[in-house]
Amino acid sequence: MQLLNADRVQAAAISDPATQRVMAWLCRGYLVAGMLLTVVYFVVPTEPAKLVVWPIIGWSSVLAILVGVAVNRPEPRSAWYLLAAGVATLIVGDDLYSIRNFVQHADALFPSYIDIVYLAMYPLLVGGLALLVHRRSVGGDRSSVIDASIITAGLGLVSWVLLIAPYLHSGEFSVFYRLTSIAYPIGDVAVLAIAVRLAVGGGRRPGAFWLLTGGLVALLGADALYGYLNLSGTFSEHSPVDVGWIAFYVAWGAAALHPSMRGLSTATPGTEQISAGRVLVIGGAVLVPPAILFTQGALGNVTDPLAIALTGGLLIILVLVRIVSLVRESADRRSNARLQTLVDKTSDAIVVVDGQGRIQYHTPSTERMLGRHAAELDGTRLGDVLEAADGNRLDAMLVSHAAPATIEWRVRHTDGGWRDLDVIVDDLRGTADIDGIVFTMRDVTERKQFDLKLRRQTLHDSLTGLPNRMLFIDRIDQALRRGERRNGSVAVLVLDLDDFKMVNDSLGHAAGDDLLKAVTARLVTVTRSADSLARLGGDEFGFLLENGDVDDGSELAALRIQAALRAPFRVGDSEMQVHASIGIATGSLRTHTCDDVLRDADLAMYFAKRKGKDRFELFFPAMHENATRRLEVVADLLGGMDRGEFVVYYQPIVDTRNGHILGAEALVRWQHPRRGLVGPDEFIPVAETTGLIAPIDRWVLNDACRQTKIWKVNGLADDSFYISVNLSSQHLQDPSIAEHVSDALAVSGIAPDAVVLEVTETGLVDDVDSAGAALAGLKRLGVRIAVDDFGTGYSSLTHLIKFPIDILKIDKSFVDRVADGANGEVMVRAVVDLAHTLSLKAIAEGVEHPDQARALERLGCNVAQGYLFAPPVPAPDMTALLAQQSVSSDFLGPDIRADVEQSAISESQVLLSRP
Ligand code: C2E
Ligand code: CA
Ligand code: CA
Repeated sequence: MQLLNADRVQAAAISDPATQRVMAWLCRGYLVAGMLLTVVYFVVPTEPAKLVVWPIIGWSSVLAILVGVAVNRPEPRSAWYLLAAGVATLIVGDDLYSIRNFVQHADALFPSYIDIVYLAMYPLLVGGLALLVHRRSVGGDRSSVIDASIITAGLGLVSWVLLIAPYLHSGEFSVFYRLTSIAYPIGDVAVLAIAVRLAVGGGRRPGAFWLLTGGLVALLGADALYGYLNLSGTFSEHSPVDVGWIAFYVAWGAAALHPSMRGLSTATPGTEQISAGRVLVIGGAVLVPPAILFTQGALGNVTDPLAIALTGGLLIILVLVRIVSLVRESADRRSNARLQTLVDKTSDAIVVVDGQGRIQYHTPSTERMLGRHAAELDGTRLGDVLEAADGNRLDAMLVSHAAPATIEWRVRHTDGGWRDLDVIVDDLRGTADIDGIVFTMRDVTERKQFDLKLRRQTLHDSLTGLPNRMLFIDRIDQALRRGERRNGSVAVLVLDLDDFKMVNDSLGHAAGDDLLKAVTARLVTVTRSADSLARLGGDEFGFLLENGDVDDGSELAALRIQAALRAPFRVGDSEMQVHASIGIATGSLRTHTCDDVLRDADLAMYFAKRKGKDRFELFFPAMHENATRRLEVVADLLGGMDRGEFVVYYQPIVDTRNGHILGAEALVRWQHPRRGLVGPDEFIPVAETTGLIAPIDRWVLNDACRQTKIWKVNGLADDSFYISVNLSSQHLQDPSIAEHVSDALAVSGIAPDAVVLEVTETGLVDDVDSAGAALAGLKRLGVRIAVDDFGTGYSSLTHLIKFPIDILKIDKSFVDRVADGANGEVMVRAVVDLAHTLSLKAIAEGVEHPDQARALERLGCNVAQGYLFAPPVPAPDMTALLAQQSVSSDFLGPDIRADVEQSAISESQVLLSRP
């Protein structure tokens, strides 16, 4: 990251190509001028050469460096100022020396103040070069330091043996002389060390680099040569050795002018491989101590065994350290390579962005994941690859420095499709290694799509594609919440097709499925966009209404639905009419949960069914109580049967003219352990819907027949006495009904003609064919058939003729009005006449007043039952009545009538006084 940043800085610096060109020309021109001056220097005599040409060369170098710094603006400038100062001290020293030598013609004095000027150059050069080296290296760059140390130690030893030690050992000079003499080679070794470090370390190596190092080599070479010649006393002024120094001046001036000098302070990581050249140089350096030892040994004069041994030891240690670090580096490299391979091969994509969201690094997998080339990604803003909303969130994250640990992104792949990504975010801005935000992205598109499919499957009905009950409940829940915010409520309609089971049973399940699909299609047409339609299961559908539709709208919606279903449906070859019962419930979150609303609508639908189907009902709270009661009853009913809690009451059927008991109707009651005596109206309907009615009817039939047999055997009832037993229409449809009746007859041993079976009019017309067949079967046994509640149903005359009927029981609702006036009488007369025409017997039900009895008599109906004569009573009471042989020998007498009414009231009180 640092590297990239530095590159950008660098790119910004070399922005002006014109300036660059000028500087390149200047640099070249200066080099050429330097060469010409060199020639001039050697052509002219020593004095002008030393006093004119030399200063020009030296000071031009200082000037060139200052110009270079001003134009090229290198970083750090201080390094170059130090270098310029170093060069300046050198030329000052040279000039002072020349002036003393050729102007003052003074004797060479050594050491002198000039040496102080000269020696001052070393720290300046070392400091300037050190600053540059520091800029050029990444991190510690330990191996370069070691390599440089090895080479310096090797060359340093040479310098020691040849230049330094001779002065140290020689006794002929003063201490001051000797110290000054060795200060030069020591300074050179210091410059050498830093020069080697510059050469072997990392960093860019543009033209300026080579000029700088070339100048150093020239300087050090000239110094070494000078030292050696001086020592051996063969040095002379104005000799070829001067070329080295001139080259140093010119090369450094040119280096500073060169436009690439700025790049010198650019770091690059040290090369990981150790080059053959470097191995050679290091090897050479290591071999210096033994080589010197060998040479001196051969010459028979080993001068510095200690220095040679110490340097040899130091070199061995340095080489060992270098080997260890090489081994470590290669291990690091291997693990880095492994890491890189893993990163390359992983399907997860890793992207690093800088503070502006620009991609600084990405793994190859990123290209695959997004379908983009590396060139399209590098430096691009990551936000531009994302969906707009995700991009904005990313920008906010960059600014706020508050990155969430995980996020989800949707990105457009270049193949046109979208990709869902799970992203892990690590904000590593400000850390040394990364300095950016790391996004680790995983492509979860397939998993997301699978989830979605699974969700669809679990939340939708496979046949119709509609939402299922689970999703519907969820939608109600959401609607309730939305409603709460707007202070509104929701309406739920539950629709159940009427008699759908018949379609399945008669046409098969495939036809049933087709019909459901056709119904769905029609329901969809009446569903408004804001509302939802769902299949709740079987033939049950749900509507959810929101917004204005809730109050009156829900009933309008129900009407719309009914209208949509009105036209006949074609299923296979047949056409059929489909009706539906609809329950409507409304609710708001304050009072209802989603389950509540659905349950209420369900209940209302159930009431619509009970009220005759093909209609809709609005829920009201009493429905709920009713339903709870029903549930309790269902739960209880089975147990009640097992525990023998049912009892049969008997209501006498009498001859109104004399009160003689002609027969009795068996009416069941439930002696409930908690609720007391429960009337049939409370549990018969429940028993009918739960299939419990057949066992109850059968038990009543058996018990009544048994009781009748007892009365007959005891002589309390004569041969003509009959028992009238109610048969539910459900039971009538039971294929084994005839078997049940014949069993009862056989077990009790009473004659078939002593048994009347009462079936309701509605029970007969519901299914005319099967009812006719069942009645015929019963009739063959010899029992008689009565039509109960006659007048309340819709039986046509054809039915009455078709069915083998013996008795019509005129419903209480007619009897109630028979004494009221002309109208009521007309109805009853019609029924009685009809009975007589068809040679049927008519029995009036629910006679409560003597007026009614007399009116009936006048119309020709003199068989009746009712509280006027006797309420339904338990068997022992009936036994007592039979013993009297009539309900009352003089039932018109006021005393007895009062008794009877009293008993009727007491029974109704019993019936009414439930908890
Ligand atoms: P239902 O067959 O029409 O029975 C006559 C009903 O009228 C009886 O009601 C009886 O108590 C009542 N009643 C008789 N005289 C009078 C009167 O003067 N005034 C008034 N207000 N009511 C009178 P109950 O016993 O409550 O039975 C009700 C219905 O329950 C019966 O109507 C019958 O449909 C059904 N039921 C009773 N027992 C059985 C049974 O064992 N099996 C079947 N399937 N249904 C039964
Ligand atoms: Ca009856
Ligand atoms: Ca009746």
